[in-house]
Amino acid sequence: MARAWNFNPGPATLPEEVLSRVQADLLDWQGKGLSVMEMSHRSEEFLGIAAKAERDLRQLAGIPENYKILFLQGGALGQNAFVPLNLLGDRTTADYVNTGHWSTKSINEAQKYGDVHIAASAESSGFTHVPAQSEWRLSQNPAYVHICSNETISGVEYAFTPETGDVPLVADMSSNILSRPFDITRFGLIYAGAQKNIGPSGVTLVVVREDLLGKARRDCPSVFDYTLQLKHEWMFNTPPTFPIYIAGLVFERLLALGGLAEVEKRNIAKAQKLYAEIDRTDFYKNKVCVADRSRMNATFYLPTEKLDDMFVAEAREHGLINLKGHKVAGGIRASVYNAMPMAGIDALVVFMRDFEKRNG
Ligand SMILES: *Cc1c(COP(=O)(O)O)cnc(C)c1O
Repeated sequence: MARAWNFNPGPATLPEEVLSRVQADLLDWQGKGLSVMEMSHRSEEFLGIAAKAERDLRQLAGIPENYKILFLQGGALGQNAFVPLNLLGDRTTADYVNTGHWSTKSINEAQKYGDVHIAASAESSGFTHVPAQSEWRLSQNPAYVHICSNETISGVEYAFTPETGDVPLVADMSSNILSRPFDITRFGLIYAGAQKNIGPSGVTLVVVREDLLGKARRDCPSVFDYTLQLKHEWMFNTPPTFPIYIAGLVFERLLALGGLAEVEKRNIAKAQKLYAEIDRTDFYKNKVCVADRSRMNATFYLPTEKLDDMFVAEAREHGLINLKGHKVAGGIRASVYNAMPMAGIDALVVFMRDFEKRNG
C-alpha cells in the first residue's frame, strides 16, 4: 500500500513511524494483553503513558513547573469559550487581535461572555498580514490579550511574539505549535487542537500559567474549569486516552529528531522551497505579506478558478491529496506541518512545475 502525500489542513498527516508504532501495539500494548484504547484512564499503564507525554512535552517546549499542562476535550473552538470563562475573573474586558478566520471565531465566541476590545485588526488588508505591534491599542484594564499565532486558512503567521507587559498573552497555537521553539514565559496561556501538529483530533492542549488559575466563573462547566481539572490531574472526567497516547509518541519522536530547533530548521527549509516555487513565475500567486507568510499553510492561486480546480484534481492523481483551499478562501492550500517530510514538498514542486509547463 502506498501512502499519499497528504496536505490536509487538519486532521493532518501523522509521522509514519508513529502510525507504525500504534499499529504494532494496537492489540497488545507492550505485552499487557490489551490496547491503550481499552485501558482504564486510572490504570498504572495509562498514568505512565500520560505522565511521559507530559514530561516529554515539558522538555520539548521548555515548559517550566509554574506552567500547568492540561489535555482536554472540546477542541480549539471550545477554548474560545473556556478561556474567557476561566480568565475574565472580575474584569469585564478582554482584548483580541484579529488576523482572520480563526481570530474572528475567537472574538465572536468571547463576546458571549464579556466585552471584547479589538486591539488591532488586519481586516483592511483582507487579512493578508499581521498588524505590527506598534499599531496595537490595548484597552484600559483587559483580562488578557488574545492572538491566533497562525491563521490556518489564509496562511498568515506571527513572525514575532507580542510584548504585552503585565497583561497575559493568550494564543491559539492550533496550527503552528511545536513547529518552532517558543518562549512559553511570554504567554499567560496557550491552547491548541491536536489535529495539526500534535496528533489525532479529540484532544486539546492547554498550557496555563499557575497564577491565572482559580478565577473560573461559577457557570463555567466543571470539565472545562482548568483549576478543577488540575486538582484532578486532568482526570476529572475521562480524558481522550488514545489521542493522548499518540500525542505522546509524537512528542517522543520530535525529541529524538533533536527538539524544536531542529524541527524549525526543517520547516524553514520546506517553506523556503515551496514559496520559492510559488514566486518563481507569475503563474502561482500568494497574497500574504512576505514577512508574515505561514510556514505551515502555504496558500496560492492560479490564474483562473478553473485552473485551481484542474490543479487539485490532477495533483490527486499524482498522489498529492487535499490541496484544495478552504471554501472561504478558494485557491490552493498546501498544509505542511511537522510530519510532512521534504520528500512531500519535492513531489509537490515537481508537480507544480509540470502543471505550469502544460497550462501556463
Ligand atoms: C483548526 C483550527 C481551529 C479549530 O479547532 P477545533 O479543534 O476544530 O475546534 C481553531 N483555530 C485554529 C488556528 C485552527 O487551525
